[in-house]
This record gives sequence, structure tokens and C-alpha cells, in this order.
Amino acid sequence: MQKVRNLVVGCGLSGVVLAERLASVYGEEVLIIDRRPHIGGNIYDYKDPATGITVHKYGPHVFHTNSREVWEYLSRFTQWHRFMYRVKAVLEGKEVNIPFNLDSLHKVFPRTLAEKLEQKLLDTFGFNRKVPILELRQSQDKDLEFLAEYVYQKVFLGYTVKQWGVKPEDLDPAVSGRVPVFISRDDRYFQDKYQAIPASGYTAMVANVLNHPLIQVKLNTDFNTVKNQIQYERLFFSGAIDEYFEYAFGPLPYRSLDIVFQTYNREYLQSGPQINFPENYDYTRSVEYKYYLDEKSDKTVVSYEYPCAFEIGKNERYYPIPADENQILYNRYLAKAKELQNVYFIGRLGDYKYYNMDQAVSRSLNLLKQ
Ligand code: UDP
Repeated sequence: MQKVRNLVVGCGLSGVVLAERLASVYGEEVLIIDRRPHIGGNIYDYKDPATGITVHKYGPHVFHTNSREVWEYLSRFTQWHRFMYRVKAVLEGKEVNIPFNLDSLHKVFPRTLAEKLEQKLLDTFGFNRKVPILELRQSQDKDLEFLAEYVYQKVFLGYTVKQWGVKPEDLDPAVSGRVPVFISRDDRYFQDKYQAIPASGYTAMVANVLNHPLIQVKLNTDFNTVKNQIQYERLFFSGAIDEYFEYAFGPLPYRSLDIVFQTYNREYLQSGPQINFPENYDYTRSVEYKYYLDEKSDKTVVSYEYPCAFEIGKNERYYPIPADENQILYNRYLAKAKELQNVYFIGRLGDYKYYNMDQAVSRSLNLLKQ
């Protein structure tokens, strides 16, 4: 029987930050395990051997935060490649800015109509406002109703049905609210103060977070298999909370992705790093990775994301599904979790929350402050 003071399950961002704080701030020993053969969880990246391009195995990750604390914390473990994300969606065969903004408006409508709609938006919401599509759809004004319906149909409906299997209004409004209509010409995907990609990749950053004499890392180690062989005083669990409780109330639903990578024998394929396809094809988006770190190669690597349901033992969990009935089910697990002593749940899977990377870091930093 191995004895440890702290056991952390999961080498994703949530778990590694927690382990680092336990070791650095509290001077405590930590064993951190992961059932996968690599660290980093779903932010794991690697250099594709054929091209030297840094590829994100579990789909695109672009770091952004308004939290100076999170930014400064991670900056201790990585240099940054400053990078402002720009995304396009193909609507009626044309590439337009996403979030849909005033430039997108002028790209898809004839001038007089675009000018009229722009004025209506400015009068109704004001310049620089971000309006979630579900809010825009509440408009009583005939012109805004027309615009809302257009954007809903062309940008959100097809993409969301592919991504989540349901319509935007059947999810927590915060999901489509992540990409609001933007009454501005700002064409950045995020407006956060800090935006960047780790200059040597996410995996290298995570390796640095874990690089502490009090932290022991064990990969290819499934909690279910070793839990009776390890005696721990505290457990920090970033795996799926429903799995921890052996699906006592039934499984929590997640979305998964089938990500197909393709290498092209040309310098660039796309006009930019990410193209969304709300209307066409069965994938939601294509991502060309060399744009992220501005890597040079005469070849290029592009990924295509085909969303699907998560099935236990068949594929990986990517997204908790933010909807009322799932929250109710999660709350039953949460109540059970609160009965436990010295067991803490963290991360997208432990908290069943659609965290961005910075929120995952904050969550772990704050948990230990309590
Ligand atoms: N979304 C959409 N069309 C787009 C971009 C986003 O309908 O062109 C919706 C969709 O429901 C998506 C959500 O907004 O799941 C959040 O998008 P985000 O880019 O934040 O998703 P992530 O990168 O986390 O997968």
C-alpha cells in the first residue's frame, strides 16, 4: 500500500495547478496520476513529426484571460507567443468575421440594407455592445427581427445542432452567448486583456508546472485500478464526477469530438487559423495549426472536428452539456460529493462546467486559498 498526503487525479490544467500549489505553497508531497500516456489532459499538444508543426491533439486551444493573477501565475511556467485570435465562418460561400460584427453585416447584405441595420443596432444597443443571439431574437423591431433570424439561421443553428445535437435555445444561453453579435468593427474572437499561446506549447508549460521535487507523476495509471492500493489523506479529483460515484444516478452526458488531422503539401490552406462551417459539411470547424505559433513549413496541418455523443469506453469527454436537466443530475452528484471528507472535485469534468482554461486555473488557485 502506497501512502501519500495528497493524491491528484488528472494531469490536465486543473490538476497540475493544484499539485503545484500544494507542493510550492504548502510544501506538501503530491502524487498526481493520469490514465492517459501523456500529461496536459485536453490541452496536450505535440510537434507533428512530419512537418514540425505544433498540433493540438484534442482540438484548438487559445489562451485568453482578464485575470492578471492567472496570467502572472502561468507566466512563471512559460514564455508567451502574443496572439489575437481571429475566426471566420463561411456563410453562403463567403468568409465573414465571427463574432458576427458590423463588418460581417456589410459583407452579407447590400449596402443600403446593411446601413439601415447598422443604424438600428447602434440606436437600439449602442456601439461596442455584445448582444447574445438569443437576446437579439427577442427584438420587436421588424428589421432587427429579420437580422436576428438571419444570424440565428446562418451562424448559430447549423453549428450548434452539429456541435451539441440540440438547438441554441435548448442549451444554457451562456453557450451561444460565448460568441455574441458584436456591434463594433473589432474582429477579434476574444476581447480579453491577455491573449497568447505558450511559446513552446501547452505540454511544455504543463511539464514546467509539474517540475517540482515534491510532485510525483504517474501516467498510464487509472484511479479505478489503483484506488485500493494508495492511501491518501486528501483527494483532488479532476476526472468525471459521475464516474467517481460509479454512475449511481446514471451517467452525465458529454459531447465528444472525432478530430481528423490532415497534412497538405502546400504552405497554407486557409485564410486564417480557424474557419467555422455552420451550413456546410458535417464538421463544425477547420483549424490550421501553423498560424498559432507562426511556424514555418512548406507543409501544413489542418484538423476537422466532427462532434458526437460521448460514450463510455468508446471516446473521450470534451464538453459537459450546459442544460437544466443535466445540471439537476449533476447537483445530485454534488450533494453526494459534499458528504465526503477530504475529497474535492475540480475541472471541467469534476465540476461539470464548461470552463475556459483561465477559469480552470482560477478554480484550482481559489480552492487552495479556502
Ligand atoms: N457557435 C455557433 N457558431 C459559430 C461559433 C459558435 O453556433 O460560428 C456557438 C456554438 O453553439 C458553440 C458555442 O457558440 O458551441 C461556443 O463557441 P466556442 O467557439 O466558444 O466553442 P469552443 O471553442 O469552446 O468549442
